Amino acid sequence: MVNDSWEANTQNWTNNLPAEFKKRRGYEIWPWLPVVSGKIVGTAEQSDAFLRDFRRTLGDLVVEYHYDALTDLLNKYGMKRYTESHEDGTAMIADGMEVKRLGDTRPWDLLNPNVPRVTDEIASARLDICNDCAHLNALKQCAKCGCFMAAKVKLAEAHCPIGKWEGTDGV
Ligand code: SF4
Repeated sequence: MVNDSWEANTQNWTNNLPAEFKKRRGYEIWPWLPVVSGKIVGTAEQSDAFLRDFRRTLGDLVVEYHYDALTDLLNKYGMKRYTESHEDGTAMIADGMEVKRLGDTRPWDLLNPNVPRVTDEIASARLDICNDCAHLNALKQCAKCGCFMAAKVKLAEAHCPIGKWEGTDGV
């Protein structure tokens, strides 16, 4: 399953956030909440430290309760997960590498020689499509998935997030 980019923007509250924050960071969130609206609690350094903890907790929860949970669910049905995270124009509130840690195709697969590759012909056909695509930037990075396409087009299990590679496997 292709798990497309994060487009849920910057949601920053759930009912269990206070309990999750205390469990993960070791202190209560409540006295520090004014910091989220731009106030300083204690010193500026203490407020900055809280903000780092707050954002890290949001990221941890997105990783565990959304991305990792999806892997567990798909595995029950014998399915695999390919995940994208960053997207042009929307904020991502978790670490882009962490969200892929349990994915079946991970960013570091680009560097792993044991991961299945497509033929040079297929990779070239995919790259031709990307080169004509408005989502490819000057660095040859796709704005939809954040990947550098010269490497991604070679992976057998990689996909175009908007389906533009359909049919290239038969070239
Ligand atoms: S992967 Fe798809 S969306 Fe991204 S540049 Fe290539 S064709 Fe465009």
